[in-house]
Amino acid sequence: MPELPEVEVIVRELQPKIIGEEITRVVPIWHRTVVKHDYSPGDDRINAVERHGKYIIIRLDRGFVVVHLRMTGQLMVDAQIDPDARHLRAIIYLKSGKAILFFDSRKFGRIFLSRNLDVVLKNTGIDALSNDFTIKKFIHILKNRKVSIKSFLMDQHHVTGLGNIYIDESLFAAGIHPQTRVDALDAAQIRKLYKKIQIILRRAIDGMGTTISDYKTVGGGFGGYQNYLAVYGRQNKPCPVCHTPIKKIRINNRGTHYCPVCQGE
Ligand SMILES: [Zn+2]
Repeated sequence: MPELPEVEVIVRELQPKIIGEEITRVVPIWHRTVVKHDYSPGDDRINAVERHGKYIIIRLDRGFVVVHLRMTGQLMVDAQIDPDARHLRAIIYLKSGKAILFFDSRKFGRIFLSRNLDVVLKNTGIDALSNDFTIKKFIHILKNRKVSIKSFLMDQHHVTGLGNIYIDESLFAAGIHPQTRVDALDAAQIRKLYKKIQIILRRAIDGMGTTISDYKTVGGGFGGYQNYLAVYGRQNKPCPVCHTPIKKIRINNRGTHYCPVCQGE
């Protein structure tokens, strides 16, 4: 599943390709892909392409087209439009003759059309790379939480953008066991985790994201950060720091990877 870095890479690629274009119409191919609230863009100009957590926000004159890729969604910008193309779920037509094509083999991805951004983003927390995500705020939202730190970060209502890969990587870098209860973390651990989250997300963006299975950039390229993962997907392989075999456990039914020495048993 694409997480914050992969979505950020896609947003940066989309910006020069579609800002200034006009959307003429949004056509669903699979009926559930497009979720229309109170808006249907017609000859509406694209002013900006932004990101909140894992959402891609296309800001137009009169409303918003918001894309969530979920498991397998992919975007392409192309002048060649074949409505029968395999896994094509929606077409966002542009006035120039090009289109933003939304491919999605698993069909969980969504395109929301709304005049009000809050309607779409109402259940999401602070973006993990935004200026709003300060150490003060992080300490505040962690207060008195009794769940494990892994579960807490997976829940997008608090901090949004992190998923399985970057949570495992951040916890490893911070030396924190993923099952540690949030209210058992001390101030130094929280500070370290906060720093490592930002460092790892930025490094992953620089590496064009992580391709484990389906993620591709808008240009059809693969990410490169999978080569730098320390623990995610590396069960039984040596820890890059201490060479102990990486362990894999399940937390809330999600595979979770950690080093039993660097992060404790
Ligand atoms: Zn280790």
